[in-house]
Amino acid sequence: MTQINKPIKVLVIGDRATEDLLFRKDFSPLNHKLIKLKRFQLLGKSLDSLLGESFDVVILTLSFSSNEELDLVKEVKTVTKESPIIVLSNNRNPEIEVAISKEGIQDYLTIDNNFDSEEFACLLLNSIANAIGRNGFFSSTNQQPAFYPEVVGEQSSFVDDRDEKFRVVVNSTSVLIWMSDLNDRLTFVNRFWLEFIGKDSEAVLAENWLTNLHFKDRRVSQIVYQNAFNNRQYFDLECRLLNSQGEYRWFFITGVPRFEQANEFLGFVWSGVDISKQKQVETLLKRQARRNYILAKITRHIHKSFELATILQTTTEQVNYLLNVERIIISKIESVDNFKILSESTFPRDGDSCNLSPFLDLKLWQVDLNFDCLRAGEIIFLDRLKEDNRPEITARLTEQITRPEMITSHSASVSFSAVVVPIRVEQKLWGVICAEQCSEARQWTLEEISLLEQITTQLAIAIKQAELYQALENANRQLQQLTVIDSLTGIANRRRFDEYLGSEWNRLARENACLSLILCDVDHFKIYNDTYGHLAGDDCLQKIAQTIQKTVKRSADLVARYGGEEIAIILPNTSPSGAKALALDIRQNIQDLQIPHLNSTTNKYVTLSFGVAGCVPQSENFAQGLIVEADLNLYQAKETGRNRVVGA
Ligand code: GH3
Ligand code: MG
Ligand code: MG
Repeated sequence: MTQINKPIKVLVIGDRATEDLLFRKDFSPLNHKLIKLKRFQLLGKSLDSLLGESFDVVILTLSFSSNEELDLVKEVKTVTKESPIIVLSNNRNPEIEVAISKEGIQDYLTIDNNFDSEEFACLLLNSIANAIGRNGFFSSTNQQPAFYPEVVGEQSSFVDDRDEKFRVVVNSTSVLIWMSDLNDRLTFVNRFWLEFIGKDSEAVLAENWLTNLHFKDRRVSQIVYQNAFNNRQYFDLECRLLNSQGEYRWFFITGVPRFEQANEFLGFVWSGVDISKQKQVETLLKRQARRNYILAKITRHIHKSFELATILQTTTEQVNYLLNVERIIISKIESVDNFKILSESTFPRDGDSCNLSPFLDLKLWQVDLNFDCLRAGEIIFLDRLKEDNRPEITARLTEQITRPEMITSHSASVSFSAVVVPIRVEQKLWGVICAEQCSEARQWTLEEISLLEQITTQLAIAIKQAELYQALENANRQLQQLTVIDSLTGIANRRRFDEYLGSEWNRLARENACLSLILCDVDHFKIYNDTYGHLAGDDCLQKIAQTIQKTVKRSADLVARYGGEEIAIILPNTSPSGAKALALDIRQNIQDLQIPHLNSTTNKYVTLSFGVAGCVPQSENFAQGLIVEADLNLYQAKETGRNRVVGA
């Protein structure tokens, strides 16, 4: 690793985590009493207190969610007297990267989950080493060739260009051609080079080939070059060079080592071919591939569950991860004035309260958010002015399509930006997904919006699936109900009786507690049917079942239709005497119904006979014994005159 032999002055702006990182053990080359750290927390303060002070490195942590932060870079550069700046940001927006690179910063490192990794520590350290290397902090005894050699004009001399043919060929090609010596000084550049860079040959001599290189390509280019230099061998690389119009062009650069007759190494002959067009296609394909990858990943997450709540939560989290905004909401639109937030994911940065203004409290429809647009599937962009509380629609999807670059409204007076994407399930508006930047303006790239749209389409499918799944579950539950309920009386059926008696028998055997059973049977029901008809008989049975159900109080008690006009009552944790008391109550309540039974030989109203049995279940005998006993007692009740309770 690079050795540094002087204390270095570092300014860290805006982030404590970065400062902590600098003192970690991985940073030992910097840490051994070498670093002099100055910390400056931004949060709206002016940079005036730094005015005129210069640093070996300035580390600036930014999100670039607004243009103001771009201005901040310029300001820091000015007040710190052009100190080298390393920007750490979680923003991967390529447009931002280009904009920031034009500010001439030292390096731009993207941070996400990698912040604590060894790899990132190494990157940052390397970047710092490069920055301070340029300012002469490398040890003078250090044998490593400097990456940023000073180029002194007088020492350079252009290659003999008296050879007319050579001059014509080299100067009429649209390939960059140049030569460098052992100290990386330029010793020759062709006309195309001068035209491309837009400087005269004197000015070129004050620079080296790294001067016009995009900072992102510096590290790799240096490594490739250094390796070739050390081994005196051919190399090639792809990198971006800044042209006279201030725009970066991609070049394929080759370097061929140059030797004298005595085999003495002299330096390199370089040539560079503009490959920007190919790169453009490559970038497009890469972006497409990245988009597909992200989409596939998010889609996989969304479709993992059939639970609507989980699907929505996953979606808000994934979208927040993708867009890196302060809040994502999914709302269901029940009706025009009923907007229900079903899922939310917030991301306040740096522990700042980001002044989440509940977007939906603003009643979208009152701020002109035309529901017809959402119904038609239009994406809507909103901005709110600082002095005004009403969000303004800044663009709609149809307008945005005609704008190739960015959906932008980043005027300084905007304090809130949101994008609202309708979720349409089977062509109908189901709800919206809304991404909000509540504390500042925000730019949305077309790529982001296109991804958001595709995610919403996937979400709609997942919602539909969840709804179908829910319907299926309900149907299953109903079916389950049907299989345990007697359709005539509405009480449990025989199947449920058998199941419940078996499970309660086993449970109470373990608990060593009492289980009782009442069997009851309508007296002279055949005669009742004969007298009043079968339908009236059904009616009568229903009344009896409902009366018994009402009389039974505990939730563990089960009233079931045991057979034709026979009803059984399972009474867990109930003694036989308790069961008998309940049977007497039921008998009374049935009598109180006073259902006329004209031809009964024992009573003028409908009555029941009861057989009661109960015991503490023993594992060796089984519930059948209890039924037999209750049945015998019921028989006894019939035999001894009916309308009575026998047993216990
Ligand atoms: P006992 O007092 O000895 O019980 O005389 P009973 O007439 O009630 O007994 P029996 O077993 O001779 O007749 C039972 C009658 O109950 C015969 C049957 O038609 C009637 N029954 C059974 N299930 C239903 C039903 O679902 N609806 C109607 N209406 N009648 C039923
Ligand atoms: Mg019977
Ligand atoms: Mg009967």
